[in-house]
Amino acid sequence: MSDLVTFEKHGAIGVITVDNPPVNALSPGVPEGIVDCVSKGNADPEVKAMVLRGAGRSFIAGADIKFLGQKKTKAALTYRSIIDESAKPIVATIHGYALGGGLETALACQYRVATEDAKVGLPEVLIGVLPGGAGTQRLPRLIGPKAALEMIVTGRHVPAPEAKRLGILDDLAANKDILLDTAIAHAKKIADVRPLPRIRDDDSKLAEAKEDPGMFDAMRKKIARRARNQNAPQNCIKCVEAAVTLPFDEGIARERELFDELVMADEAKSLRYAFFAERQANKIPDIDKFVKGRTVVSGAVIGAGTMGGGIAMCFADAGIPVKLLEMNQETLDRGLAKIRSNYETSVKRGSLAADQVDKRMSLIEPVLEFESVSDADIVIEAAFEEMNVKRDVFGKLDVVMKDGAVLASNTSTLDIDEIAGATKRPADVLGTHFFSPANVMKLLEIVRGKDTAKEVVATCIALARTLAKVGAVCGNCDGFLANRSRAPFQTEMNILVEEGAKPQQIDKVMYEFGYPMGPFAVGDLAGLDIGYAVRQRRKKESPNEYRALPIPDRLCEMGRYGQKTGAGWFKYEKGDRTPHPDPIVDEVITKVGKELGIKQRNDFTDEEILHRLLFASVNEAAKILEEGIAYRASDIDVMWLNGFGFPRYRGGLMFWADSIGVKNIHAQMVEWQERYGDRWKPAQMIEALAASGNGFLER
Ligand code: NAD
Repeated sequence: MSDLVTFEKHGAIGVITVDNPPVNALSPGVPEGIVDCVSKGNADPEVKAMVLRGAGRSFIAGADIKFLGQKKTKAALTYRSIIDESAKPIVATIHGYALGGGLETALACQYRVATEDAKVGLPEVLIGVLPGGAGTQRLPRLIGPKAALEMIVTGRHVPAPEAKRLGILDDLAANKDILLDTAIAHAKKIADVRPLPRIRDDDSKLAEAKEDPGMFDAMRKKIARRARNQNAPQNCIKCVEAAVTLPFDEGIARERELFDELVMADEAKSLRYAFFAERQANKIPDIDKFVKGRTVVSGAVIGAGTMGGGIAMCFADAGIPVKLLEMNQETLDRGLAKIRSNYETSVKRGSLAADQVDKRMSLIEPVLEFESVSDADIVIEAAFEEMNVKRDVFGKLDVVMKDGAVLASNTSTLDIDEIAGATKRPADVLGTHFFSPANVMKLLEIVRGKDTAKEVVATCIALARTLAKVGAVCGNCDGFLANRSRAPFQTEMNILVEEGAKPQQIDKVMYEFGYPMGPFAVGDLAGLDIGYAVRQRRKKESPNEYRALPIPDRLCEMGRYGQKTGAGWFKYEKGDRTPHPDPIVDEVITKVGKELGIKQRNDFTDEEILHRLLFASVNEAAKILEEGIAYRASDIDVMWLNGFGFPRYRGGLMFWADSIGVKNIHAQMVEWQERYGDRWKPAQMIEALAASGNGFLER
């Protein structure tokens, strides 16, 4: 018998325990072990029923992604049927997570019991596949096709109380300590109930779809925008449709066919890569995994503006008390009112329960004195983007903060070491760069100063997870990793317009590539005045390195700041966010082109636009790698996916670059260098990779 799965008797109940740390994934050996234990329970006349549970921190959390797409063993293919056909009932006993293959195993059991804080779900779509272990056939039979469709197509984690309401779970245990007793009691209660409730045999819930056959097309329509260029969500819908129209066994065969279409396709490869890249980002080459971060049970934020307010919300959303400091009562009140109104919008949209607003607001304590934040475990400064303001704030924090507090800045461009220099504890200082809106965007860029202690970096990596962010670490340089690698894209899109390309064409190309919005529409959303102010400052501070962008400057000078003024790169109708091309912008483009002496053209191909924007950034990213600002190419991808909306099913900037081939990118850059000048000079790393034939990810 496999030692990954054990069997012991508690009176008349056989307890099967999967013990495959860390999360009891269904790696080879586990299905075999389950099969052996189920046979053992069925063969033992003393055993009346069984429970199936996981040791350690979770039930079977899911399939082992490492083995995805590999040939399955016989046991892996048949163990669920063996559970399903067991002569004695089996109670899946869930704590932690039952996701993907984990939930599919539980659905093969006749009963399911879970702790109240457990989560269940079928998130396969998020890695470009579908629940290929009969999940798409059993779940619709258990909870009805409509609810199943929603769960399978979104891949979301469903909290246990909701899962009980939906009918996925039969019983809940208040906590893990009493879970096994609860499950055993449940097993005793149902031990003699016959016939056994087998999900596969019960078609009663499927009637719902027969009455509402339009539900599948409605779902296709609903996801059309989000699921652009992707097959997995479409195949998920087809599977649930098959559950309704085909007998169980034929549905399973259809599910397998639709799974096989996906598993080795580029979409799934990219999404799997992204999944592992995010995990890898938490491992820092010179920081041992045993370096423990400091405990963070309280936070403080300096500045209740756009970012400070959003950051305070991140803490409150995670249930962590946070103090929010401003310069005066009026700005503080304004900041808090904005936070409350953001929460109220979430309630209106249905993404937050009404009673949560006060609960979250109560976790945010408004303060006006630096002494009041002194006992916070971490303080994040989000004051104005000026070095003297930052140094002043950090000087004050140095005086008041307790020993061991982490001192972080949300600066987007300023030198972390210079900020740290305003304190006598530079080891405690680092950058925690949130992206706007801070309570929504997933990325937390953790910027390591030259003196930042390893445990301080480890603290922020853990904090990112606590705040439901994706953390990635980089070194200190102007713009850090994310914005610095993105800047050439930003410049290039402006150069393209100077050469005669239309913002709407560029936006269409990038939207079709998979971005949620085109870059010009994003500019209008964020406000063109921010970039304008930065350029004005750079022009003054470093006129030689500064690349003027006369067209957006002209738009700003005309009062066109974007959506907030009803016009920017596009024009907007009142109360509507749809961008409409504007002949006034065309006039500005033509006029500036003439002033600059540029012979404008209108024959840009989609490929030229896409490649010029992205290759420009690939070149800068290569320099960032060369300089050691990024530890690895995959960290750049993590930042682009979570900070800039780069389409996840394309893996990330560097993964995508490798799919084009560095050799090809190099050849194109050399050609453009001749045509457009030295901004296209390939980085040394690109030269070297083009020569060796390797990619960024296999350096
Ligand atoms: P903001 O102007 O909206 O807010 C700054 C707030 O800080 C103001 O409310 C101001 O009253 C307060 N403040 C200034 N000095 C203070 C002090 N000494 N003590 C207490 N409060 C003080 O600016 P923002 O957009 O929230 O940006 C804040 C920081 O975040 C900047 O460093 C900025 O570069 C960075 N950042 C901004 C964005 C963005 O998109 N806005 C994104 C990432 C990072």
